[in-house]
Amino acid sequence: MTMENVAKRLHTQPQEVLARLRFIGNVAQELGYPVYVVGGFVRDLLLGVEDYDLDIVVEGDGIHFAKELSSRLHVGFVKHKQFGTATLITHDKVKVDVATARQETYEYPASLPKVKPGSIKDDLARRDFTINALALDISRNNFGALVDFFHGRKDLNKKAIRALYDISFIDDPTRILRAIRFEQRFGFTIERHTFTLLKDALKKHMLEAVHKHRLRDEFILILKESQAFKCIKRINGLCGFAFIEKKLRLKKKALNTLKKIEGTYTWFRDNYPHKHKVEVWLLYLMVLLEHLDSMRLKKVFKEFAFRRSEMDAASIFKEESSAMLSRLKAPIAPSVIYKILQPLPYEVLLCVFIKAHDKKVKDKIRDFLFTYKSIQIHLNGEELKALGMAPGPQFKRILLQLLYAKLDGKFKTKEEELIYLRHNILAKSCAKNGGKV
Ligand code: ATP
Repeated sequence: MTMENVAKRLHTQPQEVLARLRFIGNVAQELGYPVYVVGGFVRDLLLGVEDYDLDIVVEGDGIHFAKELSSRLHVGFVKHKQFGTATLITHDKVKVDVATARQETYEYPASLPKVKPGSIKDDLARRDFTINALALDISRNNFGALVDFFHGRKDLNKKAIRALYDISFIDDPTRILRAIRFEQRFGFTIERHTFTLLKDALKKHMLEAVHKHRLRDEFILILKESQAFKCIKRINGLCGFAFIEKKLRLKKKALNTLKKIEGTYTWFRDNYPHKHKVEVWLLYLMVLLEHLDSMRLKKVFKEFAFRRSEMDAASIFKEESSAMLSRLKAPIAPSVIYKILQPLPYEVLLCVFIKAHDKKVKDKIRDFLFTYKSIQIHLNGEELKALGMAPGPQFKRILLQLLYAKLDGKFKTKEEELIYLRHNILAKSCAKNGGKV
């Protein structure tokens, strides 16, 4: 095993990261637990990539250690008893996962592993790739020593993704997706033998054997990558998406749409003036599944236990986007654009925006997002009451009518709004209802 000391590299980390590591190391030493940072943090430290979340492994009782840390840091912790792990969130929002070093065995392919306490070497041996099987000793006496049983350091230098053992993808086929994720994220190469093992697992349809909820979680991680499109293209070329739906393979047109998602999403995120979270992974998924028939689409969302709102968004996009695009092609008033687009989730709006090739249609969606959505009328329910109107469901209708009129430029000021209300809404509805509003 290589025993390089990377303490110097640790000193390039922000002060609070270094202090946190030393603190954790000291508490472990007091309890007599050998303690390590493992996985992504170590890999990213050596690559010079920012990554502050910590995976801590102790050769000892992980939950007891997490409890001790949480009480000394004055933060809460959540324990996952089944795996002997716990998670703390520090005051500066850094996630610290704490685990007992463990050994894993798989009873049958694609099963969840059986775990029992083990050494740090056991814990690293159960990991996916050599580059993720590195640990950093953070105990006081050995602070910064790199623990590298599987030549992960060498593979990092070689930019290689290498499995730790030959049936790795059979034991846990989600590692196929993970290999592609890291390959595309870092621009690494899946090493030759590992690639043969990966293709062999694909030939055996191992991905289809994985529990759908695990596949969903791993696939969402792919779709959240900034290189998501490249990952999708790679999966499409290698095996297609039969692990989601039989025979699903993307055609050029869908790939062209998917290619535009990252750019549109970043543009929206960086420019949209209101606070609104858009799930970029859902955009990818909606386009990926767009050409399934409606029943299959819903079945996929149910089988993978996505949320109802996510399924609805995908259905709306599938069923309604073409009709919406043709309605938006016609010269229509802002209030009509508003009525078409307002009911849509943001993810659908952005996908429709991407699918629109007509500049005028794109302009309408942009106007809706950046202008119409911010327009507000002056009056509200209270003021309608103050004007002597009896409250009821008609309030909503009246206020909406006012909003549509304002969108269409019928008035600007509150006074004009009141006049419009009297002359164009109340007068008409009074006439229609034989004198009653
Ligand atoms: P990211 O930067 O995407 O968070 P990460 O390496 O931290 O990358 P996680 O999914 O958070 O990825 O997993 C943490 C560590 O747990 C990995 O580095 C790896 O060592 C191990 N790991 C995760 N999933 C698996 C798996 N399916 N098989 C083996 N080891 C795994």
